[in-house]
Amino acid sequence: MQQKVSKIGVLTSGGDAPGMNAAVRAVVRTGIYYGLEVFGIMRGYTGTIENDIVPMHSRSVANIIQRGGTILKTARCKDFYEYEGRAKAYANLKKIGINGLIIIGGDGSFRGAHTFASEFGMPCIGLPGTIDKDIAGTDFTIGFDTAVNTAIDAIDKIRDTADAHDRLFIIEVMGRDSGYIALHSGIATGAESILIPERKTDIEELVGSLQEKEKRKKLVNLVIVAEGDNFGGAEEVAKVVKERLPNVDTRVCILGHIQRGGSPSCLDRLIASRMGYSAVECLLEGRFNVMVGIVNNRMHYTPLEKAVKAKQKIGDDWLKIIKILAS
Ligand code: ADP
Repeated sequence: MQQKVSKIGVLTSGGDAPGMNAAVRAVVRTGIYYGLEVFGIMRGYTGTIENDIVPMHSRSVANIIQRGGTILKTARCKDFYEYEGRAKAYANLKKIGINGLIIIGGDGSFRGAHTFASEFGMPCIGLPGTIDKDIAGTDFTIGFDTAVNTAIDAIDKIRDTADAHDRLFIIEVMGRDSGYIALHSGIATGAESILIPERKTDIEELVGSLQEKEKRKKLVNLVIVAEGDNFGGAEEVAKVVKERLPNVDTRVCILGHIQRGGSPSCLDRLIASRMGYSAVECLLEGRFNVMVGIVNNRMHYTPLEKAVKAKQKIGDDWLKIIKILAS
């Protein structure tokens, strides 16, 4: 028979994402509502290994729903990749009596959770917290909406100055393995071209289309490049463009970490709250080792085992839309 969950731990792991705090708040308050003891684990899996675990109360999560980052801190934890590290983590959780774990993070964090759950029978629930949006089994990931809106805000500002000087801007956004920020921010700002890791960059096609635009005096152009595009990012693309189009005034702008910070958007606060609440319900109902997602506005549960294997794909229709709209 499954053991009844009475003490739960919550941690944020991997890359931080705005809205993680809203999810932590929802977990803590829902847990307390249902009579559970809730513990905050600091710095991702590192806190489990170093026993950096603190009791959480309703007031511990006051005034955080609007804050970016994560009050629990996040980290990448090398020791958790090793069995010895995970065994130490389990021993620390067991000492306290924690018998359910909620992990807010990306697919790497879920891989860790899946292994941990399989080895030690610790019930784990994953919440998709990543600005990359590349996780299958959910329409939304916590942090993506905020990150993409931050990118849009910055790109709109760049367009103003590009327009004033008739310049071409090559703008790099985050996304080492995922083109979603580039794709959504590019479409939403009317970019001419969007280069993403999911498609091999065709530099000749880009140069050709910019040459054609130069001929018809369309001089203000924005090219959005995901940092993980296979050509090597904005700087590399710019090198070729400057060489091949010497008369076009070309600049590079790398948006960088501003995309991770800031107050979470309404959407991110809402989905984080729903997912956090639902994660606690999963533990109470014995629906263990799943990732909580939202699909078609309903809660959707994907076994962690499946969640770590599947990636959210970018459909060809998106790329067609870009081509048509950027003419
Ligand atoms: P994200 O969760 O944002 O994808 P990472 O891939 O860095 O970020 O994963 C976060 C942490 O999850 C890692 O630092 C590590 O502690 C743990 N982790 C990731 N993959 C595994 C794995 N295969 N086995 C055990 N732990 C893992």
